[in-house]
Amino acid sequence: MAFDALEDLVHLLTSLPGIGQRSAYRIAFHLIRQDSYQVQSLSDALIQLKEKIRFCNNCGGLCETELCSICSDDSRNTELLCIVEEPQDIFAIEKTGEFDGMYHVLMGAISPLDGIGPDDLRIRELRETLENRGIKEIFIATNPTLEGDATASYISEIFSEKGILFSRISHGLQTGGSIEFADRSTLARSIRNRQKL
Ligand SMILES: [Zn+2]
Repeated sequence: MAFDALEDLVHLLTSLPGIGQRSAYRIAFHLIRQDSYQVQSLSDALIQLKEKIRFCNNCGGLCETELCSICSDDSRNTELLCIVEEPQDIFAIEKTGEFDGMYHVLMGAISPLDGIGPDDLRIRELRETLENRGIKEIFIATNPTLEGDATASYISEIFSEKGILFSRISHGLQTGGSIEFADRSTLARSIRNRQKL
């Protein structure tokens, strides 16, 4: 017995991060039991998400207009640039209240095993930012993983001639962990204790 509508949804759900076949079927069966109104609301929320939220033209973070609230905030320290892998890392760092500079989102990290090289990241945009704005310190807050460390080394090497100070999030963060899911006080400490490269 096969139902195309069910199989189509399961197929789409398993393409999402962290959702395997079993979870996909659980979600699908749950939705079948829900009211049409509830399912419609979920469907509307997905469409709204895609229509309203976009990436900031400047930093690559999330926003609803061309520039995000951080890039358009005059009170931020524009000489300090924090480099992160994903837009959601900005949320985690902002929650600590320890950082008042600007951000640059790479949209990933260098990972040869996954076929992701520097050209797949927002390195060209980073180069433009460094050429056009008086950045004095680059704080590299890529994840404390092999890929995050490799990306940090790559960035500090290719931009080393520009007379910029480089710092890296301190190793108070668990190796192999992520900025996004680090607890707030640990993350705050590793920002405060960032190490010069
Ligand atoms: Zn921005």
